[in-house]
Amino acid sequence: MYLFPLKKQRISLNFKIPPLPAIIVYMNINSLLPEEIKQILEKNNIKGYRANQIFNWLHKQLVTDFFLMTNISKEERVKLSQIFEIVVPEIKKVQKASDGTKKYLVDFEGQGSSAKGQVETVLIKNTSKRKTVCVSTQVGCPLSCKFCATGRMGFKRNLSADEIIAQIELVYKQNHGIENVVFMGMGEPLLNLDNVLKAIDIINHQKGLNIGARKITISTAGIPQKIEKLIEYPKQVRLAVSLNSAIQKKRKDIMPIAKKYPLHQLIPAIKEYIDQTGRRVTFEYILIKDFNDLDEDVGALWELCRGLNVNVNLIPLNPAPKSRYEPSSKKIQEWFQQQLQGNDINTLYRKSRGGQINAACGQLAGND
Ligand code: SAH
Repeated sequence: MYLFPLKKQRISLNFKIPPLPAIIVYMNINSLLPEEIKQILEKNNIKGYRANQIFNWLHKQLVTDFFLMTNISKEERVKLSQIFEIVVPEIKKVQKASDGTKKYLVDFEGQGSSAKGQVETVLIKNTSKRKTVCVSTQVGCPLSCKFCATGRMGFKRNLSADEIIAQIELVYKQNHGIENVVFMGMGEPLLNLDNVLKAIDIINHQKGLNIGARKITISTAGIPQKIEKLIEYPKQVRLAVSLNSAIQKKRKDIMPIAKKYPLHQLIPAIKEYIDQTGRRVTFEYILIKDFNDLDEDVGALWELCRGLNVNVNLIPLNPAPKSRYEPSSKKIQEWFQQQLQGNDINTLYRKSRGGQINAACGQLAGND
């Protein structure tokens, strides 16, 4: 049997590929500035002026559900909930100490982020009842400082700007406001600098919580290139550097990051920061018994601070579990402070708070 070859046919597509749906799905809205929200709204045929209203709901009224945004039409609210997601952290645990400190165990799991993440966020009340929130910037920490409990957890991941903002806003909401924000929780803020600065842009925004830049402190173990990058950031945030020893050999023993960025690289970056910004930098100095509280230590610290626009915060060591380091005695703490003050170095003795619930500096490990 003979089979005719099939005639080749050209199939013409006489229909056009349909345009992509108008709605663009974005994961999180919390870290977007009003102008960024506006751009997305307009692409989705929602009036741009809604952006300011939405920003106000999110960051001033601290509403976490589009359906509660009552000055926005119902159809638009539905559309918004299709376009955006709002990060709502889950508070897993709250611990309270008698000095007013509260420690929140905050969980971001299931909020659109594939990686798990539990961090601790601390509310500290000082003697004049001013409230400071101590924020985490990473899940765990890669720096492994010998005296710090977070360092022992290892590093899991960076927090997104949304997650950083969410910690601040949840503590604000739970405690009827806050005055100060310190990036001194879990993690190294300068290793997650873009997200930290984006979070600051949002909490400092006039249409949001409007927390003054001077009420915000970024604390770092000392990464010279990032300190230089921070010079370009226009907001007047404060910078604190965890010095802990002015002697390189000792510093690298307790802070492994000091091997990579020794003092002879770190100090010029700090000087540059002071010169360029005109702002004073704080050195944080944990006093560790028989380690960095000796004559030679106070001498080296004085030598380093002399002529620099810095002040020194002396911090008694909070013992971390299984740590071989002990705090200096009260007498030595006073002596150390007097030595510096007597030689014209602005020195403050920072009273530790929250130790009762392992919420003090260096005790955050998410496990108690
Ligand atoms: N990685 C950043 C921010 C987190 S640590 C930094 O190093 O600055 C925040 C502050 O807690 C730092 O000043 C640090 O020196 C201090 N700290 C860490 N462990 C401590 C401990 N066991 N006792 C007292 N302060 C501690």
